[in-house]
Amino acid sequence: MKNFVVKNARLRGQNKTVDIEVKDGIITKISKGIKTKAKTIDAQGNLVTPTFIDPHLHLDKALISEVVRENKSGTLAESIEIIWNKKKNYTISDIVERGSKVIKWGILNGTTFFRSHADVDTIGGLIPLKGILELKKKFEGIVDIQIVAFPQEGILKDPGTEKLMRQAMKLGADVVGGMPYNEYTDDDSKKHIDICFEIAKEFDKDIDMHVDEDDSPNARTLQYLAAKTIKEKYFGRVTAGHTCALSAYDPYYAAKIISMLKEAKINMITNPATNLMLEGRRDLQPIRRGITRIKELLAAGINVCYGQDCLKDTFYPTWGQEDMLEVGLITAHAAQFTQPKEIEVLFDMPTVNSAKLLRLKNYGIKVGNPASFNIIEAQTVQEAFRKRATRLFVFKNGKLLAQNKVESKLYLS
Ligand SMILES: [Zn+2]
Repeated sequence: MKNFVVKNARLRGQNKTVDIEVKDGIITKISKGIKTKAKTIDAQGNLVTPTFIDPHLHLDKALISEVVRENKSGTLAESIEIIWNKKKNYTISDIVERGSKVIKWGILNGTTFFRSHADVDTIGGLIPLKGILELKKKFEGIVDIQIVAFPQEGILKDPGTEKLMRQAMKLGADVVGGMPYNEYTDDDSKKHIDICFEIAKEFDKDIDMHVDEDDSPNARTLQYLAAKTIKEKYFGRVTAGHTCALSAYDPYYAAKIISMLKEAKINMITNPATNLMLEGRRDLQPIRRGITRIKELLAAGINVCYGQDCLKDTFYPTWGQEDMLEVGLITAHAAQFTQPKEIEVLFDMPTVNSAKLLRLKNYGIKVGNPASFNIIEAQTVQEAFRKRATRLFVFKNGKLLAQNKVESKLYLS
């Protein structure tokens, strides 16, 4: 289906519906009452929004929770330890098989852009990266996948990783990852960040790190990352994921860090599904949420997004279906979003905010842009989140990728 018109489409926040004309995969007209001989799809006044973006997930680790031992403490540290054994035995085809399932779930749920981390270390070598590169090839022309070379085991703590990171970039990783808090000392954490910047500059790539995924107010690598970004003038090219410890800082130190993040134009990604599970495990009561300061970051004008992060792995066993409306629902609870205005922002997070983070061009429902949109069975974004509404149609570049239909019957006397 190359040329078609979506009739009665409701764009976000609009009272009146419009028609959207698509020719050769591009949006060519948006107006009322488009006359056409091409095929038409009646959106029936439902929302038509750009397809979702998941800016943070781990396709190499996904869906392994059933074949590894149980995570008894539930902590991040044990999640990482359990993976060591499995990681040694990863194969490219195993990663492609598990990752394909997740990508297909994502497509059914209206997500067509993914940024996945791939572990790069001396345990699994470059197999996780090669697996995701293979996956990217398999889905080429269908969805977009960016790959982050992710030194989860540390760089100084795991000698040999720096060399592997450079090899990963040569093999085709799109983004330089990092995990600075997983070093033995604060000095090493700083060196870790310095090395990531060296590699990023060498290959002219963006940076996307896992930062301070911990409850301790002493986890402070975010400050160095912000300072380094400012010094290197890497404005807008650095992303910090998780940053749980930011919520453990005293308000004065937190305010200083937030103003530095703003100055550095760092993008933030919160991953509440995973972190609500992992953090606060050493707390008695009250158990802290372990979620970064979402509202304060947004209020400061910082670009904040959310990601699925984990799906049925050692970090997040049992859960996850690569649905950005589900992750949004969890984010809303974690961050206490209740007002209509806040829910609008919540919808920006896996759409326009993430497009900014991924530096996507031509994203959104506009004439001249690729026809990549979902028809969602809801009239408002509030309703979309509340019901995790059915993604009736999922189009990418004008191609119909998925259709969902839920039929419910209620028998009352
Ligand atoms: Zn992650």
